[in-house]
Amino acid sequence: MAASERISKLLTPIEYLKGVGPQRAELLKKELELFHFGDLIQHYPFRYFDRSRFYSINEIQADAYYVQFKALLKNVNLINAGRVKRLVAIFQDNTGSMECVWFQGITWVQKALKPGAEYIVFGKPTVFQGRLNFTHPELELSGTENKESASFQAVYSSTEKLKTRGLDSKGLGKLVKQLFSEIQPSDIPEILPASIIQKYKLLSRFDAIKQIHLPENETVIQKATARMKYEELFITQMRILGLKQGRDETVQGLLFPVLGDKFNNFYHRHLRFQLTGAQQRVLKEIRKDTLSGKQMNRLLQGDVGSGKTVVALMSCLMSIDNGYQACVMAPTEILANQHLISFTEMMQEQDIRVSLLTGSIKGSTRKNLLEELKNGEIDILIGTHALIEEHVQFKNLGLVVIDEQHRFGVGQRAKLWEKNQHWPHVLVMTATPIPRTLAMTIYGDLDVSVIDELPPGRKPITTMHKFDSQRLAVFGFMKKQLEEGRQIYVVYPLIEESEKMDYKDLMDGYESISREFAPQYQIGILNGRMKAADKDYEMQRFVKGETKIMVATTVIEVGVNVPNASVMVVESAERFGLSQLHQLRGRVGRGASKSYCILMSGTKLSAESRQRLKVMCDTNDGFEIAEFDLKLRGPGNIEGTQQSGIAQLRLADITKDKQLLTLAREDAIVLLKEDPRLQAPEMAPLRNYLDHLKKDIGSWSRIS
Ligand code: ADP
Ligand code: MG
Repeated sequence: MAASERISKLLTPIEYLKGVGPQRAELLKKELELFHFGDLIQHYPFRYFDRSRFYSINEIQADAYYVQFKALLKNVNLINAGRVKRLVAIFQDNTGSMECVWFQGITWVQKALKPGAEYIVFGKPTVFQGRLNFTHPELELSGTENKESASFQAVYSSTEKLKTRGLDSKGLGKLVKQLFSEIQPSDIPEILPASIIQKYKLLSRFDAIKQIHLPENETVIQKATARMKYEELFITQMRILGLKQGRDETVQGLLFPVLGDKFNNFYHRHLRFQLTGAQQRVLKEIRKDTLSGKQMNRLLQGDVGSGKTVVALMSCLMSIDNGYQACVMAPTEILANQHLISFTEMMQEQDIRVSLLTGSIKGSTRKNLLEELKNGEIDILIGTHALIEEHVQFKNLGLVVIDEQHRFGVGQRAKLWEKNQHWPHVLVMTATPIPRTLAMTIYGDLDVSVIDELPPGRKPITTMHKFDSQRLAVFGFMKKQLEEGRQIYVVYPLIEESEKMDYKDLMDGYESISREFAPQYQIGILNGRMKAADKDYEMQRFVKGETKIMVATTVIEVGVNVPNASVMVVESAERFGLSQLHQLRGRVGRGASKSYCILMSGTKLSAESRQRLKVMCDTNDGFEIAEFDLKLRGPGNIEGTQQSGIAQLRLADITKDKQLLTLAREDAIVLLKEDPRLQAPEMAPLRNYLDHLKKDIGSWSRIS
């Protein structure tokens, strides 16, 4: 009986759990999105209290658990170190002594403490200046302790509102305990295939979840958590790879059998440089995809300046040679314009029509353009998101190149494909290097190509960190570069929240640079508020070398290519993220001359900002920077992760659980290879579970 009945137990509305009732249920739904029994068991603890026993002082280690020890209070001292006061109490048992520290409520604590008495000290041991201590621990006089709480306990996150209703961590813990008294192992059936359970000797699903909430001891927590982390990662991978598999089965890939005149003519007569080995390899991979009968979904990663544009162009030529159009989508108008310029230049004297469509192209121009597109008179359409949002129809689109896709939502990708009768090949390009683990998750459904080689003759960019007080010296340096004929970018931060101030900084900066360098050198200014035509005009003047210094906000961050620019000055560099700084730096070092990136900042810097600037000075390697960034910020804050399913990971953390992730992905690949439709009897629970998820998550699963 009863697979459905068993599952339905977890689908019981939360108000029916003993101890909840309608009012608390409302709050649980609103505050923590706990609707059903099943949601509560997935509200995992974020740490544990070990009150199962008393530790002796010499066995206490810095780790994730809160522990308690019993000891005599030896002495209490108030320490005045500068502005910060702290109260330090020393406790001693027969194995050693331990320091406890208070920064707040000092007077009160000092009054309450009785030197010579025995205390139960409870808290989280941390390392401070190389020594263990407890900061703001809980204290009870020995003998007065509350016996009931003497166990190994899960700690749950709660909210202020829930706490007023008795649903603090303890209250939630009680509900969980109640829940487990009402359900049986069969209510949380196994979903992983037996082969995997055996391979890693995993706890059963029920046991793992139960032990996470109500652990019998310390060691089982690790085992239980590892099992559930693996499961989360494995399920994510099965879904991503399942999407890819579904696409491969249902979508007919366009065939590009011809490597024809347009491609060859460009390659042999017009291409002004030799392709790097990496560029050639990637083109071969793309060619292979377009001969496979499957839709290409390829991610092209290549550091800034590695030469992705020409790869994009030559892929477009493959499409055109086979009678199809191509389009290139860029995240900003400036970048779309840049692409138009470089494409048009590379296509000179060849019979290829390249056109531009952005939001600012209107009226009859737009109307004609759309007409030509529909008739197939345009071969390559370059544009911004206007390409998908407007009523744009191709005659026969064969290839879509998406540049800097981290700015395009996954949803937008899907939209683009919806609008065509057939599904074009898709090449996603990004210069924001993505650590491997993240790529496996965010872009797990795409095949990956990497350009890991820069065009020859590039000199590494020298990056320096200078303080605002050294500005005169920086100006001097800029002058020397200008005298040598180089051009310079000066970039200011501009973020929405402080837009007014930032805008003022930009204008002030522009004025001070004008005072210093004009009229000898012409200076341009560029920011997001300007009209598209003005932006374009300013950019063109810089491209042509008429302006020597470009003062700008981050609108120039991505893609802009002016090989003669050799200096990038970033103002208030501490306010930029690492990947942004790396992108900005990538605007220089594109020509033959030695290039410099100067990061300006004030002297007051947080430890993290200091680290960021140091990393920039230490390495030019985008992947290294990306790894560091991931470590610094955590995966949730990296662009693109929101749509990736990472958000659904409750326990696993792809920065820390790299090994598990790799195993899970490999296992998922093998499994799908052996049994693509999961038809073996032992796969039934997994298949059902995945089907169930698919129904739940609408848009995410429809994409790709
Ligand atoms: P990105 O990968 O950042 O988009 P681009 O495609 O803009 O880089 O290329 C950067 C510069 O390098 C351009 O000026 C381009 O013409 C040049 N370039 C690209 N490939 C080569 C190559 N194989 N040899 C020499 N120069 C190249
Ligand atoms: Mg580019």
